[in-house]
Amino acid sequence: MIGQGAESNTACSIFRAPWVIPVCSPVLQDGAVVVAHNKIVAVGPYHELSLRFPDLPLSSCQGVLLPALVNAHIHLDLSIMGSVYPDSPASTMCDWISILLKKREKAHFSGEAMEDAAAKTVIDQYASGVGLMLDIGNLPLQRRDTTGLEIISLLEMLGPSQDAQQAVMNTLADFPSDLPVTAHSPYSTGPDLISFIKKRCRRQGTMFSFHLAENRDESLLLVEGGGCFARFLKQRGAWDQTFPVQGIDSRGVVGYLDDLNLFDDKTLCVHCVHLNDDDILAIAGAGAHICLCPGSNRFLGVGTAPLEKMLAAGMLPALGTDSIASNTLLDLWQEMSLLSQEHPRVDSASILAMATLGGARALHREADFGSLAPNRSGCFLHVQGREYEKVENAEQLLKRLTSCGRPESVSWIKAEL
Ligand SMILES: [Zn+2]
Repeated sequence: MIGQGAESNTACSIFRAPWVIPVCSPVLQDGAVVVAHNKIVAVGPYHELSLRFPDLPLSSCQGVLLPALVNAHIHLDLSIMGSVYPDSPASTMCDWISILLKKREKAHFSGEAMEDAAAKTVIDQYASGVGLMLDIGNLPLQRRDTTGLEIISLLEMLGPSQDAQQAVMNTLADFPSDLPVTAHSPYSTGPDLISFIKKRCRRQGTMFSFHLAENRDESLLLVEGGGCFARFLKQRGAWDQTFPVQGIDSRGVVGYLDDLNLFDDKTLCVHCVHLNDDDILAIAGAGAHICLCPGSNRFLGVGTAPLEKMLAAGMLPALGTDSIASNTLLDLWQEMSLLSQEHPRVDSASILAMATLGGARALHREADFGSLAPNRSGCFLHVQGREYEKVENAEQLLKRLTSCGRPESVSWIKAEL
């Protein structure tokens, strides 16, 4: 990364800071990032880069330089709902879904109001340092996005009965072929439709992202035809022969999805709270990705994902906020802080890597996002706060970044083109 001697170059700026966190390489004290034409040219110790690029205009920053955050799971079209609290600690996730649906039916939100709420969320996400997100929606919103935040959007489909699956397949036949679509979850979508959508994704080369193992009752529904999801489907008149799924063997829900040929490197499994060791190995072995949403899991009381086992299997999960309907705040800094509390044996560097590199890999955008390295995007973060001023080493710095919530100041470094 660091060449010999001074270089004549077209770089337009060198950004120097007390701390630079490349994520893909060790933290630099008194580090620098050289940017040209909106791409990073070099990252390294300032004293080396200042010799290599002696004529560049210098921007001295206080605080920390690091890559943009990646929010790998959000539902912008639920922004208008605000936090939807369960009735009581005894409420099931199905109770919460019922409350959410009732609130939405009663409110009759206009399309414009929903788009405005989504746009405000996008602005706040960008202000918090998110540069890339995966948005899963039930409605194709026409967002007036004026920030620099890049949004990958997937339209989410559900089909819990034979009739509903067939109806969605008929609808998809009329969809523009370039409109990316995904499935909601194994408990809301039958096997024919899940397979149909994954095959469509493969033909189009698009992501397939779905909620997996968020709640124990998912397995109860698919294996035994019981649990809260079975009651929910019966109450809504959507119960037929789709569940329980015939032929599920001892490998459970993940084995069933594996038989549907669902896992590959374009599949992103979200939540993954109730996975056993074999499930994790099957998902990791297929090269599929995982996104954790600790804030939403805590809000709905569904449990804590086995992060240590995922890391031990060689995975680097991504991180997502999920929607505001199932969270108190949409903020990846808070999600990192929750992970720090819930997984004290996981090192802070891994948690920061999840919120940056993990998301970039899962969304296949590692060439631009996730780390500070040559050829990556020249737009990255500059964070400041009193808590970072007196840190003595990289370990302390990473601990504070991942356990204190959103920094006092988050701003964007954007080099002139
Ligand atoms: Zn979700």
